[in-house]
Amino acid sequence: MVRVTVLGSGSKGNCTIVSTSRTRILLDAGLSCREIAKRMRFSGEDPEKLDAVLITHEHQDHVQGLSVLARRWNVPVYATQATHTAWRAWITPRTTMSLNAWLELRRQQYAASMKSGVYGEVDPAAGAPTDNPSMEIPSMAAAAEQPRQHAIRFETIVAEYADEPIAKGDTPLPELEELLPPDNAASADPAYLPCVEHFRAGISFDVGDIHVTPFTIPHDAADPVGFVLQAEGMRIVLATDLGYLAPNVRMHLRGADLLMIESNHDVEMLRDGPYPWIVKQRVLSRVGHLSNDALGEYLASEYDGAARHVILVHLSESNNLPALARSSAERALDGRMGLLTNRVHLASQNEPLESIDL
Ligand SMILES: [Zn+2]
Ligand SMILES: [Zn+2]
Repeated sequence: MVRVTVLGSGSKGNCTIVSTSRTRILLDAGLSCREIAKRMRFSGEDPEKLDAVLITHEHQDHVQGLSVLARRWNVPVYATQATHTAWRAWITPRTTMSLNAWLELRRQQYAASMKSGVYGEVDPAAGAPTDNPSMEIPSMAAAAEQPRQHAIRFETIVAEYADEPIAKGDTPLPELEELLPPDNAASADPAYLPCVEHFRAGISFDVGDIHVTPFTIPHDAADPVGFVLQAEGMRIVLATDLGYLAPNVRMHLRGADLLMIESNHDVEMLRDGPYPWIVKQRVLSRVGHLSNDALGEYLASEYDGAARHVILVHLSESNNLPALARSSAERALDGRMGLLTNRVHLASQNEPLESIDL
């Protein structure tokens, strides 16, 4: 039996676990480590028994908890070399000051933000890569001021090493030593991971009894991929964060027993919505995100109907409604004779989807 549980999906964090009796793989680690652990336990999975974390691409909503999770449970991380390099560039302080001086600077900035009451809000000038368009566009000033890029990461570390959720107000500042794991020389490198395996799109590999085939997807990241996972005779496909369904993607979607596919936005909602024009252009572009309509068109025509379960993932909270995404997909499937066994599920940002056993 293969079990698939979407722990969360959307522009604020993506994470899914696929497990067999022998192997447990996490696809992306876009929630905080603590949240991933909480949701795994809620779903009956043990975070200490993870065999690997596979990364689709380096955007923040796919790697938010990666560093802490990999260190805490000594989990091997699988990524393409380009994705790993891009992630390292994002997470590593771009400054000539010492690490301790940088941490002190960040602590002071944290204190200032607590005083001003802005802690917890995302600085849009911080420029960290993300799929949340409201956090997306770095200003020219921010680009010229590279150290600010790590404000989000600092706050992430603070939040993840705190025992309790950090609230605004009188919460005491964390000690510097709380910001990094103790007594580990390697931890002085923020990009340190206990074990990294580089894979290449199109070249399969095995993790335990799960056979993994990564494939290239069109998205504005360094080397983004989707995954085909094969185990116990089942074929599971994850294709999210893609501007359009390129021919190679369509090929890999064939024969899926379970399909996790992006249904990001309703085009009308996006066009009429509050995002700046340049952000709308990015989402709609060939390296942006897949709309309800684009997915519906595929499901109504070329899709082979093999999947028992179709999970719609990465729904935009600003530019989509679950009912719109569902009706678009179900309408497309209902229009085709013989595909009525395809069950449509909607992944949520805020809670895990019920586990699906294949
Ligand atoms: Zn994303
Ligand atoms: Zn992305």
